[in-house]
Amino acid sequence: MKVSLHERTAPLKKPFTISRGTITEQPVLIVEMEHNGKRGFGETTANDYYGHTLESISASINKVLPTIEQLDVVRGDEVYNAVVAELANDMFALSALDIACQDLAGRLAGKTCFDNWGLEWTGMPESSLTIGIDDTDAMVANLKENPGWNNYKVKLGTPRDIEIIEALRGATDAKLRIDANCAWTADEAIEKSKQLADLGVEFIEQPLPFDAPRDDFKKVYEGSHLPVLADESCRVPEHVEPCGEVFHGINVKLCKCGGLTPAVLMLTKAREMGLKTMVGCMVETSIGISAASQLLPLLDFADLDGAILLGNDPATGVVVDHGKVNLADGPGTGARLKD
Ligand code: MG
Repeated sequence: MKVSLHERTAPLKKPFTISRGTITEQPVLIVEMEHNGKRGFGETTANDYYGHTLESISASINKVLPTIEQLDVVRGDEVYNAVVAELANDMFALSALDIACQDLAGRLAGKTCFDNWGLEWTGMPESSLTIGIDDTDAMVANLKENPGWNNYKVKLGTPRDIEIIEALRGATDAKLRIDANCAWTADEAIEKSKQLADLGVEFIEQPLPFDAPRDDFKKVYEGSHLPVLADESCRVPEHVEPCGEVFHGINVKLCKCGGLTPAVLMLTKAREMGLKTMVGCMVETSIGISAASQLLPLLDFADLDGAILLGNDPATGVVVDHGKVNLADGPGTGARLKD
């Protein structure tokens, strides 16, 4: 099997802000895997919060290339199983490799990834569109510039969180979901959950920092007026079980967990435990979004708007049309790198 790496910098349509900072462009690393005349694509992004640059991710990948190049791709989880131990400290690198392998395995079998996993594409949840943090008026304007979605995910973690949701609620009847990105205290989360429930919010994602005391998570779990989903607290398969005791659901991201192979395990396990399931994304290209979309049959909620936030997507794949995820033609994830 042959592996090549492509670096791209994808400019955003407009600056995107969450509680931790603002970005105007997204550096991405595309992995291309070739075997028996078929090519599979994987992707990961640079990320300050998790401490990964394209250079550090490329270095991790180059370290395991000799192992990968000897593999014969029969199953989609082949690369993951072969290098998971060696890449235990770089889930971003592992994810890009695993996605490319799952995509390639699908293409070699002539099946989509979800079909390859024995899942069926029926009654899929729609994706939300993310409204980043900005002046309240600008957040309302952003929502109004993007009408027709049934779900909006609003980034909070400001001194005017409730004012923002009141203003957005005045502008739409669509479902509103909240992502606090670790910005709240336990008391604040419980207090705000009451006000947000009254405003018709559906759930809250990651109110507390992942390293907050366990008792604080318990307090929020018991006191919250809305379901609470784990994101930063639920990164890899080992986190699902402990999260089940203090969250009502989990949000899986490919780059946090190490790709599609562990994502399927985590979502399946979460469903067995009676947890709500969601897949989120970074600001990323259609390669990452097409991969994450393969998980829709295992989901209650989806947040797959990453490529829509780009001004210039270097790839093609699934199309997220006002939340409805339309599959790309062809097997694997259906994604391709342009040019
Ligand atoms: Mg989140």
